[in-house]
Amino acid sequence: MSSEPTGADAAPSTRAHCAALDAADPLARFRDRFVLPEGVIYLDGNSLGALPRHTAARMREAVEREWGQGLIRSWNDAGWFDLPRGLGERIAPLIGARPGETVVCDSTSVNLFKALTAAVRLRPGRGAVVAELGSFPTDLYVAEGVSGLPGGPERRLIGRDGAELEDLLDDQVAVVLLSHVDYRTGRLHDMAAVTEQVHRHGALMVWDLCHSVGALPVRLDECGVDFAVGCTYKYLNGGPGSPAFLYAASRHHAAASPALTGWFGHADPFAFEPGYSPAAGAGRFLVGTPPVLSFAALQASLDVWDEVDLAALRAKSLALTGLFIALAERLGLEVVTPRDGERRGSQVSLRHPDGYAVVRALIERGVIGDFRAPDVMRFGFTPLYLSFCDVWDAAEILADVLATESWRAARFALRAAVT
Ligand SMILES: *Cc1c(COP(=O)(O)O)cnc(C)c1O
Repeated sequence: MSSEPTGADAAPSTRAHCAALDAADPLARFRDRFVLPEGVIYLDGNSLGALPRHTAARMREAVEREWGQGLIRSWNDAGWFDLPRGLGERIAPLIGARPGETVVCDSTSVNLFKALTAAVRLRPGRGAVVAELGSFPTDLYVAEGVSGLPGGPERRLIGRDGAELEDLLDDQVAVVLLSHVDYRTGRLHDMAAVTEQVHRHGALMVWDLCHSVGALPVRLDECGVDFAVGCTYKYLNGGPGSPAFLYAASRHHAAASPALTGWFGHADPFAFEPGYSPAAGAGRFLVGTPPVLSFAALQASLDVWDEVDLAALRAKSLALTGLFIALAERLGLEVVTPRDGERRGSQVSLRHPDGYAVVRALIERGVIGDFRAPDVMRFGFTPLYLSFCDVWDAAEILADVLATESWRAARFALRAAVT
C-alpha cells in the first residue's frame, strides 16, 4: 500500500484544480448510474448508499414478473433458491474471497452471531472472546450474547484508550472480533498483520467489513482470515435493510457448526427430515427463507460493482478524503480520522462540541453527513458518485455554517430518532 497517495498534503487548493481532477477522473462516469437529488451533496453513503438508477426497474421485474406471474415457480425458474450463494459469488471479488466461501443472508448482527459461535466451537477448551470497546455497538452486544450462552466464553474488551490487543491474547482466547474500519473514526486496521498476530496465539479472527466493503479492496483469503461479515446497504448501495454477507474460509467448512441452524442451511432442505445435517460449504450458515425482493435491489447494485476497478476506487477515495481533511484543518477543526492514508477508510470524522447541531445545519444546506455521539461529525466519501468539486463545495458550506454560527438556531438542537 506504500505507493498509495496519502492525500492530505497533496490536496488541491482551488476549485479549478478540483474541476481538473474531475475531468481526469476514471470513475466519473459512474455518477450517472445513480439517482441523486438536486442540490444535495451526499456524504452519508457509508450509512445508506445511494440508489442505482436501474434498481427500480429490476425490483419491478422481480415483483411483477417473478412474483406476480411466476408465483411459486420462481423459486426454480427465476433462480430464487440459488440467490444466497449466487450473490455471495458476486461479492467475493470485492472482499478477496475464493469461490464457495461467501453467502448473502440475514443481517450483519445475525451473521456475526453465527460466525462467533462457529469460531468458538472450533476452539474447544478456550473460553474467551476478544472485542474492541469502541466497536459498533451491535458487535459488542452480539459478543455479549454469545458470552452469555450456557457454557459460553468469557468476554474481554480491548480498551478504547489504547489497551493493546497483545495484552489480551493468551491460550484462552478462542476468537477475536474487530472492525476493519472503525465506524466512528475511520481508522483502518492492518488486516494481514492483526490476523497473523491472532493466529500466532492460536485464536481465530472474525472481521466486520461493514465500512470496508465497497470502500477499499479487501483481501480475506490472502490475509488468512477465518470469518468475516458485512452489510450491503452502505458502500454497496443494496438499499435500506438489504441482506448482509458472511464469509467462512473453506478450511473451516467441514467442521464449522454455527449455533443458529435452520432449514436453508440443511444439506437437503426439501427432504424435510426431522434431524439437522449441515449443507456442504458456506451454505451451512444459511438459516431461513431469504428476502427475495431485497435481493433484487442488491442484484442491481452489484451490476454496477461488476464494472468497478477497486484500485482506482481506493486511489480516488484517498484523494477525496485527503482533500476534505486538508480543508477541515484549514478551518481549524479537529480531525479524528488518521491523516495517514494507509490507516484510514473512506470517511472523515471531525470533532466539534456542538457536532449534532452543525450536522443538522449542514443537512438543511444540502450537505448530508451524520453524527455519532458524543461529538463526532461523520462524512462518508463514496468514489462512485462524488466529485472533487462536491468535496470542495461541502467544505465551503461547512466553513459558512461555522463562520456565521447558523447552527445555533434552536431547531438544530432537537434530536431526531435516527442520527
Ligand atoms: C452498520 C454496521 C452494522 C450493522 O449491523 P446490522 O445488523 O445490519 O444492523 C454492524 N457492524 C458495523 C461495524 C456497522 O458499521
